[in-house]
Amino acid sequence: MLGYYCNHKDYTTFVLSELNRLAETRPDQVNEYKSAVMKMLVLDLDPMLQVIAPLYASTGRPAEMQMEIFRSFVLMKHMRATLDGWVDKLSQNPVLRIIAGFTPDNMPKTSSYYDFINRIVPLKELPEVRPVTKKPKEMLKKGEKLAPKNPGIVAKLAKQVITNEERFRKRLARRLERFLQRIFARVAVDASVKMGLIPESVDVSGDGACIETGASSYGKKVCKCHESGIHKCTCDRRFSDPSANWGWDSHNERYFYGYTGYFISAYNRDLKIDLPLYPGLFRQTVTTPFPQSSRCPSFASLTQLCVSTPSSQTAPATITLHTTFCIIGTLMPLSR
Ligand SMILES: [Zn+2]
Repeated sequence: MLGYYCNHKDYTTFVLSELNRLAETRPDQVNEYKSAVMKMLVLDLDPMLQVIAPLYASTGRPAEMQMEIFRSFVLMKHMRATLDGWVDKLSQNPVLRIIAGFTPDNMPKTSSYYDFINRIVPLKELPEVRPVTKKPKEMLKKGEKLAPKNPGIVAKLAKQVITNEERFRKRLARRLERFLQRIFARVAVDASVKMGLIPESVDVSGDGACIETGASSYGKKVCKCHESGIHKCTCDRRFSDPSANWGWDSHNERYFYGYTGYFISAYNRDLKIDLPLYPGLFRQTVTTPFPQSSRCPSFASLTQLCVSTPSSQTAPATITLHTTFCIIGTLMPLSR
């Protein structure tokens, strides 16, 4: 069952009181993390409760500090840190620990962060043994896109939606990112609307983004050829991010290994910023949304969401498999 959660009002009180106390002796330390403090204070996670509550049983041992773990991910991403060593960093740095909402004797272990991810995106992400997919050699010109592997698929999908909407909705309901998307909608989009950052009448646009995985495109050798003195072989290898594939980054004119994200954004004319409304994620060469994507990019797809980017230019996110969950940390509030 879902354990205790300190609501935003109490969290704010805790942070301000602890930071004030710390600032009496180490004002420099508090000042150093000013932007992180501001971000955490504006990140109201109360609306997230209704989204994740159904994911926990009504009985059993309580899963403690789930929202706090989510907040900690946001902070971790802001600090450009990875989960390896993050818990140690929090315990050694009083400012970070305070704004994550933890006391010295009440901090979740690293394993709790993993459990949280498994809860939000319950997917078996097992490595796969298969042949190496080589990086394509053909170079395209700047701005040029790869030819679609399944021409006409959009028309086919559109037809499916029109003729059998119910089936399509059922299919969408199974997408792995649905909880992440709901958290984003309640925590970031709703908040942005309330703050007036997303106006009542919006210009909506969609744009793709390259999402690079940190997992190796070469895979890991699992054969014994090396022991027999054969150093170059074509045996199957183990890939830790089996859903990743090669794609063409037309903006930077290079191939990248990972996924394609697609984001629907609202443009704020006054502030001249794009504010993401909805994230989508696709495997390269696969035009079916969501169900086939893995946990790693699921979080990655949300990376760019809350970041206000200049119109039509979404920076590619570089992620590593092991820091999959750091991506969730980018679910920061849309703030000025
Ligand atoms: Zn071999």
